[in-house]
Amino acid sequence: MYDIQKVRGDFPILGRVLYDKYPLVYLDNAATTQKPRCVVDAMTDEYYNVNANVHRGIHFLSQQATDLHEASRETVRRFVNAGSSSEIVFTRGTTESINLVATCFSDAFMKEGDEVIVSHMEHHSNIVSWQIVAQRKGIRLRVIPISDDGVLDIEAYKGLFNERTKIVSCSHVSNVLGTINNVKEIVRIAHEHGVPALIDGAQSTPHFGIDVQDMDCDFFAFSGHKIYGPTGIGVLYGKEEWLEKMPPYMGGGDMIKTVSFDRTTFNDLPYKFEAGTPDYIASTGLAKALEYVSDIGLDNICEYEKWLTEYAVSEMMNIDEMVIYGPKENRDAVISFQVGNIHHLDMGTLLDRLGIAVRTGHHCAEPLMRRMGIEGTCRASLALYNTKEDVDSLVNGIRRVCKMF
Ligand code: PLP
Repeated sequence: MYDIQKVRGDFPILGRVLYDKYPLVYLDNAATTQKPRCVVDAMTDEYYNVNANVHRGIHFLSQQATDLHEASRETVRRFVNAGSSSEIVFTRGTTESINLVATCFSDAFMKEGDEVIVSHMEHHSNIVSWQIVAQRKGIRLRVIPISDDGVLDIEAYKGLFNERTKIVSCSHVSNVLGTINNVKEIVRIAHEHGVPALIDGAQSTPHFGIDVQDMDCDFFAFSGHKIYGPTGIGVLYGKEEWLEKMPPYMGGGDMIKTVSFDRTTFNDLPYKFEAGTPDYIASTGLAKALEYVSDIGLDNICEYEKWLTEYAVSEMMNIDEMVIYGPKENRDAVISFQVGNIHHLDMGTLLDRLGIAVRTGHHCAEPLMRRMGIEGTCRASLALYNTKEDVDSLVNGIRRVCKMF
């Protein structure tokens, strides 16, 4: 599907040897992905040769930096197929994007007694952001239940709507179970009830193509660092009709048209939501990352990772007492597992001593853990540069750990 060795060569960190002995097997990609050389080079080049604050500058460098920043916004627009770049707001990441919507949407459209629908498999960032505004405004969270194998109960979801429902906020892909939610259907049902839907795309954007117009979502959030881009930058896509009606999130430079002590008028979209100096270096890095995955092809990445995930699941299931959480089908490259009664922290720590990086714990999804009746899991998450050999190392590593217990 693509030249995996060539791709691996783009990521210098993958050549590291840990504990003077073990080649790095990096399987913590749902937490953050590694960065290809082209992303770091583009950012370094901008710091060395272009750096100047964007917007309003009349000098050469400022205009060049502004052009780069706005070209990056256009790259993001194309990547998610938004209708206009004024619908692309740069944020610090998925968390900030969701907090922005929770705060500004609830300020504009929600009052005491109103309700927001989230699901039982949400990351804390899509729960706590709403809880904060819920406490402030007397809003209530309603929760879409899930089946034992981690699939949303769509019939129960339909039953949650009433005249107080104002918005739905749901993940595209679960960062614990790998469940790929039918977001088109979730959005369609929300619209049928006259309310908008926010989709948390933190775990979907790195793995398959996103088309916000086809999805018809009203908001879509994702993080740069999970898609081979830099940390500290993310995106909020919002339909113009909603962004126009929402008040600004923060006050400061860039988000205003005129300021006086009597009255301030706010800037046009998307700048109304971008107070202060934006991370214009990171936006360049993010655009490079999106170009990088687009060059490989999201369809190729999706097909390759699907094959690798299926291989990993089938090999892992040959291990005695192995439990893999989440659905059997329609799942993404996230594999949460537990072997017998070996504590996930012990498993993760011992795998690390073999150079294998996995994540352990509740994965910022404590309500989901409680629903599954567990305290945590060990999670291996794959990316476009992982290989069959990485999976074999994981499986052999797990077998070695099992022998120790
Ligand atoms: N939503 C999901 C589904 C996630 O997996 C994560 C991070 O793991 C987030 C939101 C938060 O992303 P960030 O920390 O980049 O804001």
